[in-house]
Amino acid sequence: MLKGKVAVITGSTSGIGLGIATAFAAQGAGIVLNGFGDAAEIERTRSDLASRHGVKVTYSPADMSKPSEIAKMGADAIKDHGKVDILVNNAGIQFVAPIDEFPEDKWNAIIAINLSSAFHATKAVLPDMKKRKWGRIINIASAHGLIASAYKSAYVAAKHGVVGLTKVTAMETAELGITCNAICPGYVWTPLVQKQIPDQAKAHNMSEEEVIKKVFLLNQPTKKFATIEEIGALALYLASDAAGSMTGTALPIDGGWTAH
Ligand code: NAD
Repeated sequence: MLKGKVAVITGSTSGIGLGIATAFAAQGAGIVLNGFGDAAEIERTRSDLASRHGVKVTYSPADMSKPSEIAKMGADAIKDHGKVDILVNNAGIQFVAPIDEFPEDKWNAIIAINLSSAFHATKAVLPDMKKRKWGRIINIASAHGLIASAYKSAYVAAKHGVVGLTKVTAMETAELGITCNAICPGYVWTPLVQKQIPDQAKAHNMSEEEVIKKVFLLNQPTKKFATIEEIGALALYLASDAAGSMTGTALPIDGGWTAH
Protein backbone atom coordinates (compact mmCIF):
# COMPACT_ATOMS: atom_id res chain seq x y z
CA MET A 1 0.00 0.00 0.00
CA LEU A 2 2.90 2.41 0.73
CA LYS A 3 5.49 1.04 -1.69
CA GLY A 4 7.79 3.86 -2.79
CA LYS A 5 6.60 6.23 -0.05
CA VAL A 6 8.88 7.67 2.64
CA ALA A 7 7.65 8.27 6.19
CA VAL A 8 9.26 10.26 9.02
CA ILE A 9 7.89 9.19 12.39
CA THR A 10 8.99 11.17 15.43
CA GLY A 11 9.35 9.33 18.73
CA SER A 12 9.42 5.96 16.98
CA THR A 13 11.93 4.11 19.14
CA SER A 14 9.09 2.98 21.43
CA GLY A 15 5.34 2.54 21.84
CA ILE A 16 2.88 4.02 19.35
CA GLY A 17 5.57 5.51 17.09
CA LEU A 18 7.32 2.16 16.73
CA GLY A 19 3.93 0.50 16.10
CA ILE A 20 3.24 2.97 13.26
CA ALA A 21 6.77 2.57 11.85
CA THR A 22 6.29 -1.21 11.83
CA ALA A 23 2.87 -0.95 10.14
CA PHE A 24 4.24 1.42 7.47
CA ALA A 25 7.40 -0.63 6.81
CA ALA A 26 5.27 -3.77 6.43
CA GLN A 27 3.42 -1.94 3.62
CA GLY A 28 6.67 -1.06 1.85
CA ALA A 29 7.42 2.49 3.05
CA GLY A 30 10.95 3.75 3.66
CA ILE A 31 11.21 4.91 7.26
CA VAL A 32 13.02 7.57 9.27
CA LEU A 33 13.03 6.50 12.90
CA ASN A 34 13.55 9.06 15.66
CA GLY A 35 13.60 9.07 19.43
CA PHE A 36 15.73 8.34 22.43
CA GLY A 37 16.97 5.07 23.87
CA ASP A 38 19.90 2.70 24.05
CA ALA A 39 21.99 3.12 20.87
CA ALA A 40 22.51 -0.63 20.33
CA GLU A 41 18.80 -1.34 20.79
CA ILE A 42 17.84 1.44 18.34
CA GLU A 43 20.29 0.04 15.77
CA ARG A 44 18.77 -3.44 16.27
CA THR A 45 15.27 -2.02 15.70
CA ARG A 46 16.46 -0.12 12.60
CA SER A 47 18.21 -3.07 10.94
CA ASP A 48 15.45 -5.52 11.93
CA LEU A 49 12.72 -3.33 10.34
CA ALA A 50 14.84 -2.88 7.20
CA SER A 51 15.66 -6.57 6.72
CA ARG A 52 12.25 -7.91 7.69
CA HIS A 53 10.40 -5.69 5.23
CA GLY A 54 13.05 -4.99 2.58
CA VAL A 55 12.83 -1.20 3.00
CA LYS A 56 15.35 1.55 3.70
CA VAL A 57 15.27 2.57 7.36
CA THR A 58 17.40 5.42 8.72
CA TYR A 59 17.55 6.92 12.21
CA SER A 60 17.60 10.58 13.27
CA PRO A 61 18.66 11.32 16.86
CA ALA A 62 16.98 14.78 16.71
CA ASP A 63 15.73 16.09 20.05
CA MET A 64 12.13 17.21 19.49
CA SER A 65 12.58 20.04 21.99
CA LYS A 66 15.21 21.65 19.70
CA PRO A 67 13.92 23.40 16.54
CA SER A 68 17.33 23.33 14.79
CA GLU A 69 17.61 19.54 15.27
CA ILE A 70 14.05 19.06 13.94
CA ALA A 71 14.90 21.09 10.82
CA LYS A 72 18.01 18.93 10.33
CA MET A 73 15.91 15.75 10.71
CA GLY A 74 13.68 16.94 7.85
CA ALA A 75 16.61 17.96 5.64
CA ASP A 76 18.47 14.69 6.33
CA ALA A 77 15.34 12.65 5.51
CA ILE A 78 15.07 14.37 2.11
CA LYS A 79 18.83 13.96 1.51
CA ASP A 80 18.88 10.25 2.50
CA HIS A 81 15.53 9.12 1.02
CA GLY A 82 15.03 11.71 -1.76
CA LYS A 83 11.70 13.01 -0.35
CA VAL A 84 9.24 12.87 2.53
CA ASP A 85 5.69 11.74 1.72
CA ILE A 86 4.37 11.10 5.21
CA LEU A 87 5.11 12.85 8.50
CA VAL A 88 3.85 11.40 11.76
CA ASN A 89 4.25 13.81 14.66
CA ASN A 90 4.18 11.39 17.56
CA ALA A 91 6.95 12.18 20.08
CA GLY A 92 5.53 13.03 23.46
CA ILE A 93 6.09 13.03 27.20
CA GLN A 94 3.82 13.33 30.22
CA PHE A 95 4.02 14.93 33.66
CA VAL A 96 1.22 15.06 36.22
CA ALA A 97 0.83 17.69 38.99
CA PRO A 98 -1.66 20.34 40.14
CA ILE A 99 -1.25 23.68 38.31
CA ASP A 100 0.01 25.50 41.39
CA GLU A 101 2.74 22.91 41.87
CA PHE A 102 3.51 22.24 38.20
CA PRO A 103 7.27 22.77 37.60
CA GLU A 104 7.90 25.39 34.89
CA ASP A 105 10.60 23.31 33.23
CA LYS A 106 8.13 20.42 32.84
CA TRP A 107 5.50 22.77 31.37
CA ASN A 108 8.06 24.13 28.88
CA ALA A 109 9.31 20.64 27.94
CA ILE A 110 5.80 19.28 27.33
CA ILE A 111 4.77 22.27 25.21
CA ALA A 112 8.04 22.01 23.22
CA ILE A 113 8.00 18.23 22.65
CA ASN A 114 4.25 17.53 22.43
CA LEU A 115 3.18 20.66 20.51
CA SER A 116 5.92 22.88 19.06
CA SER A 117 7.82 19.94 17.56
CA ALA A 118 4.81 19.18 15.34
CA PHE A 119 4.94 22.76 14.01
CA HIS A 120 8.70 22.63 13.39
CA ALA A 121 8.61 19.19 11.73
CA THR A 122 5.66 20.17 9.53
CA LYS A 123 7.49 23.35 8.52
CA ALA A 124 10.59 21.30 7.67
CA VAL A 125 8.90 18.85 5.26
CA LEU A 126 5.94 20.81 3.86
CA PRO A 127 7.82 22.52 0.98
CA ASP A 128 8.88 19.07 -0.31
CA MET A 129 5.29 17.75 -0.11
CA LYS A 130 3.94 20.89 -1.81
CA LYS A 131 6.45 20.49 -4.65
CA ARG A 132 5.17 16.97 -5.34
CA LYS A 133 1.50 17.75 -4.62
CA TRP A 134 1.10 14.75 -2.31
CA GLY A 135 1.55 14.45 1.39
CA ARG A 136 0.14 12.99 4.57
CA ILE A 137 0.65 14.62 7.97
CA ILE A 138 -0.63 12.61 10.91
CA ASN A 139 -0.48 14.21 14.34
CA ILE A 140 -0.75 11.90 17.34
CA ALA A 141 -2.84 14.01 19.71
CA SER A 142 -4.84 12.25 22.43
CA ALA A 143 -8.32 11.99 23.91
CA HIS A 144 -6.76 14.80 25.97
CA GLY A 145 -6.82 16.87 22.77
CA LEU A 146 -10.62 16.81 23.07
CA ILE A 147 -11.33 16.66 26.80
CA ALA A 148 -9.48 17.40 30.04
CA SER A 149 -8.30 15.53 33.11
CA ALA A 150 -7.14 17.18 36.32
CA TYR A 151 -3.38 17.53 36.94
CA LYS A 152 -2.45 17.29 33.26
CA SER A 153 -2.43 21.03 32.42
CA ALA A 154 0.58 21.04 30.10
CA TYR A 155 -0.36 17.78 28.36
CA VAL A 156 -4.00 18.76 27.81
CA ALA A 157 -3.00 22.27 26.62
CA ALA A 158 -0.41 20.82 24.24
CA LYS A 159 -2.76 18.17 22.82
CA HIS A 160 -5.62 20.68 22.31
CA GLY A 161 -2.96 22.78 20.53
CA VAL A 162 -2.07 19.82 18.31
CA VAL A 163 -5.72 19.47 17.28
CA GLY A 164 -5.78 23.20 16.41
CA LEU A 165 -2.52 22.95 14.46
CA THR A 166 -3.97 19.96 12.59
CA LYS A 167 -6.95 22.02 11.43
CA VAL A 168 -4.80 24.95 10.28
CA THR A 169 -2.39 22.63 8.43
CA ALA A 170 -5.38 21.01 6.72
CA MET A 171 -6.73 24.42 5.63
CA GLU A 172 -3.39 25.54 4.21
CA THR A 173 -2.81 22.34 2.24
CA ALA A 174 -6.35 21.40 1.20
CA GLU A 175 -5.87 22.09 -2.51
CA LEU A 176 -2.39 20.65 -2.73
CA GLY A 177 -2.98 16.89 -2.42
CA ILE A 178 -1.85 17.00 1.19
CA THR A 179 -3.98 15.97 4.16
CA CYS A 180 -3.46 16.54 7.87
CA ASN A 181 -5.37 14.64 10.54
CA ALA A 182 -5.03 14.01 14.25
CA ILE A 183 -5.38 10.64 15.94
CA CYS A 184 -6.74 10.95 19.48
CA PRO A 185 -5.99 7.74 21.40
CA GLY A 186 -7.38 6.96 24.81
CA TYR A 187 -5.13 4.83 26.97
CA VAL A 188 -2.79 2.66 24.91
CA TRP A 189 -0.59 0.02 26.50
CA THR A 190 2.89 1.57 25.99
CA PRO A 191 5.91 2.45 28.18
CA LEU A 192 4.48 6.00 28.64
CA VAL A 193 1.48 4.49 30.45
CA GLN A 194 3.34 1.61 32.11
CA LYS A 195 5.77 4.09 33.75
CA GLN A 196 2.88 5.98 35.40
CA ILE A 197 1.40 2.93 37.12
CA PRO A 198 3.72 2.59 40.18
CA ASP A 199 3.44 6.34 41.00
CA GLN A 200 -0.34 6.32 40.60
CA ALA A 201 -0.55 3.21 42.80
CA LYS A 202 1.38 5.03 45.51
CA ALA A 203 -0.65 8.24 45.13
CA HIS A 204 -3.99 6.40 45.33
CA ASN A 205 -2.82 3.82 47.86
CA MET A 206 -3.93 1.03 45.55
CA SER A 207 -2.36 -2.05 44.03
CA GLU A 208 -1.12 -1.71 40.44
CA GLU A 209 -4.02 -3.91 39.24
CA GLU A 210 -6.52 -1.62 40.99
CA VAL A 211 -4.90 1.47 39.46
CA ILE A 212 -5.26 -0.03 35.98
CA LYS A 213 -8.97 -0.79 36.52
CA LYS A 214 -10.06 2.11 38.71
CA VAL A 215 -7.86 4.96 37.47
CA PHE A 216 -6.65 4.33 33.92
CA LEU A 217 -9.60 2.40 32.49
CA LEU A 218 -12.29 4.03 34.65
CA ASN A 219 -13.48 6.25 31.79
CA GLN A 220 -12.65 3.89 28.93
CA PRO A 221 -15.97 2.03 28.46
CA THR A 222 -14.35 -0.98 26.73
CA LYS A 223 -12.24 -1.47 29.91
CA LYS A 224 -9.36 -2.35 27.64
CA PHE A 225 -6.23 -0.49 26.60
CA ALA A 226 -6.09 0.32 22.89
CA THR A 227 -3.18 -1.42 21.15
CA ILE A 228 -0.33 0.00 19.12
CA GLU A 229 -1.47 -2.26 16.26
CA GLU A 230 -4.90 -0.56 16.27
CA ILE A 231 -3.28 2.89 16.16
CA GLY A 232 -0.94 1.67 13.41
CA ALA A 233 -3.89 0.46 11.32
CA LEU A 234 -5.67 3.84 11.60
CA ALA A 235 -2.45 5.70 10.70
CA LEU A 236 -2.04 3.40 7.71
CA TYR A 237 -5.53 4.25 6.49
CA LEU A 238 -4.90 8.00 6.90
CA ALA A 239 -1.64 7.61 4.94
CA SER A 240 -3.37 5.81 2.07
CA ASP A 241 -4.80 7.27 -1.13
CA ALA A 242 -8.24 6.08 0.05
CA ALA A 243 -8.16 8.79 2.78
CA GLY A 244 -7.51 11.60 0.27
CA SER A 245 -10.73 13.45 1.18
CA MET A 246 -10.23 13.20 4.92
CA THR A 247 -8.48 16.22 6.30
CA GLY A 248 -8.63 18.42 9.39
CA THR A 249 -10.18 15.69 11.52
CA ALA A 250 -9.45 14.63 15.09
CA LEU A 251 -10.24 10.93 15.32
CA PRO A 252 -10.78 9.34 18.73
CA ILE A 253 -9.60 5.74 19.14
CA ASP A 254 -10.38 5.57 22.81
CA GLY A 255 -12.73 2.67 23.59
CA GLY A 256 -15.65 5.12 23.79
CA TRP A 257 -14.10 7.49 26.36
CA THR A 258 -14.96 10.75 24.58
CA ALA A 259 -18.47 9.47 23.72
CA HIS A 260 -19.44 9.91 27.38
P1 NAD B 1 6.46 6.17 24.65
O1 NAD B 1 7.05 6.76 25.88
O2 NAD B 1 6.39 4.69 24.50
O3 NAD B 1 7.19 6.77 23.36
C1 NAD B 1 7.52 8.13 23.26
C2 NAD B 1 8.54 8.29 22.16
O4 NAD B 1 8.90 9.67 22.10
C3 NAD B 1 9.83 7.51 22.44
O5 NAD B 1 10.36 7.02 21.23
C4 NAD B 1 10.76 8.60 23.01
O6 NAD B 1 12.14 8.32 22.85
C5 NAD B 1 10.31 9.77 22.17
N1 NAD B 1 10.71 11.06 22.74
C6 NAD B 1 10.45 11.56 23.97
N2 NAD B 1 11.03 12.77 24.11
C7 NAD B 1 11.65 13.03 22.92
C8 NAD B 1 12.43 14.12 22.43
N3 NAD B 1 12.69 15.20 23.19
N4 NAD B 1 12.92 14.03 21.18
C9 NAD B 1 12.69 12.94 20.41
N5 NAD B 1 11.97 11.89 20.82
C10 NAD B 1 11.45 11.94 22.05
O7 NAD B 1 5.00 6.84 24.55
P2 NAD B 1 3.70 6.46 23.69
O8 NAD B 1 2.66 6.06 24.63
O9 NAD B 1 4.04 5.61 22.54
O10 NAD B 1 3.32 7.93 23.18
C11 NAD B 1 3.48 8.36 21.86
C12 NAD B 1 2.53 9.52 21.59
O11 NAD B 1 1.20 9.08 21.76
C13 NAD B 1 2.73 10.70 22.54
O12 NAD B 1 2.58 11.90 21.83
C14 NAD B 1 1.60 10.52 23.54
O13 NAD B 1 1.21 11.73 24.12
C15 NAD B 1 0.53 9.96 22.63
N6 NAD B 1 -0.53 9.25 23.35
C16 NAD B 1 -0.26 8.14 24.10
C17 NAD B 1 -1.29 7.51 24.78
C18 NAD B 1 -1.07 6.28 25.60
O14 NAD B 1 -2.00 5.89 26.33
N7 NAD B 1 0.06 5.63 25.54
C19 NAD B 1 -2.58 8.02 24.70
C20 NAD B 1 -2.81 9.15 23.93
C21 NAD B 1 -1.79 9.76 23.26
